[in-house]
Amino acid sequence: MLGIPLKTSMSQGLDDGVKGRGTNVMKTFIGSAKTRPTRSSGFASQVTLKAAVRCSGIGLHGGRPASLTLKPAAPNTGIIFHRTDISGSAPIPARFEYVRDTRLCTTLGVDAGVTIGTVEHLMAALAGCHVDNVIIEVDGPEVPILDGSSEPFVSLIESVGTIEQAAPKHAIRIEKSVTVEDGDGRATLRSGQGFSVNIEVEYRKAAVKPQRVSLGLVNGTFKRELARARTFGFLDDIEKLRAAGFALGGSLDNAVVMSGDRVLNEGGLRFADEFVRHKALDAVGDLYLAGATILGSFDGVRSGHGLNNRLLHALFEQRDAWSMDFVPAESSMGFAHDDLALEAPALAAIGR
Ligand SMILES: [Zn+2]
Repeated sequence: MLGIPLKTSMSQGLDDGVKGRGTNVMKTFIGSAKTRPTRSSGFASQVTLKAAVRCSGIGLHGGRPASLTLKPAAPNTGIIFHRTDISGSAPIPARFEYVRDTRLCTTLGVDAGVTIGTVEHLMAALAGCHVDNVIIEVDGPEVPILDGSSEPFVSLIESVGTIEQAAPKHAIRIEKSVTVEDGDGRATLRSGQGFSVNIEVEYRKAAVKPQRVSLGLVNGTFKRELARARTFGFLDDIEKLRAAGFALGGSLDNAVVMSGDRVLNEGGLRFADEFVRHKALDAVGDLYLAGATILGSFDGVRSGHGLNNRLLHALFEQRDAWSMDFVPAESSMGFAHDDLALEAPALAAIGR
């Protein structure tokens, strides 16, 4: 239906979030990406990387090491994963139809059991950096967790830079509200200017008070306000997960861990409301599996990977709820570069 996936994987290893430490970054510059073309036509341009870049790290759930390589791709390629450790395996498009599992993380897969797990933080970084076209090679079943946030991926992308391509940037414009629910969780897409996320979380653990974040993703707000927020867990849950064979790569180096009302990580939190910011980051990554930038507003209440994916299925099942469009060039739509313009970030983080 739409021809433009956007996706990535993660890389790098267990470290404290200081980018580059313990990583192996390889840059291979390529020639001749086309520059600039479409802004004169009134639309933003598609974007790819200027060069290939690589890093390595372990998977959060399997605990296995893997290398991740991001490679530039031609206009309209979208985001495509390749499992390079499985010879001859089919490419895995970074699109919602290929989501195979949403427990604990978002896992994509194609037939024959070729899957790639924990794609959401890399997808969020690609969305936040406005990258449309990239080939992602991973030599293992899971994108490396790195520091548990999107920041190392943003740094990886920025280390080689991005380049505009001779094709207009596709968008999926929300025309009509679509909502999915599961128990007391709810996720909605509604029409709106640009792309914004509004998330509320509430945990039955006394340590984490209800939190809400509302953010318009314009002019670098993803990098400033969301990218550094780490994944998190509660110690008693983590012990159960490990007993069941999950979270084997998890540590205080790649997750915020709570025990009762205490944050166990030595450095504490990166934001007072880091939990809800991470949920917003996850939503940005999961929604990029729509295959193009969404022009609309996302509202999530106790939402997660499962509801995010169900929401995209529900959206595309309703043909009158969305339309294909191009992203306008105007900065007000949120795709101008940081040095051009801007709107104040609409951030309201409220601990209630
Ligand atoms: Zn996450």
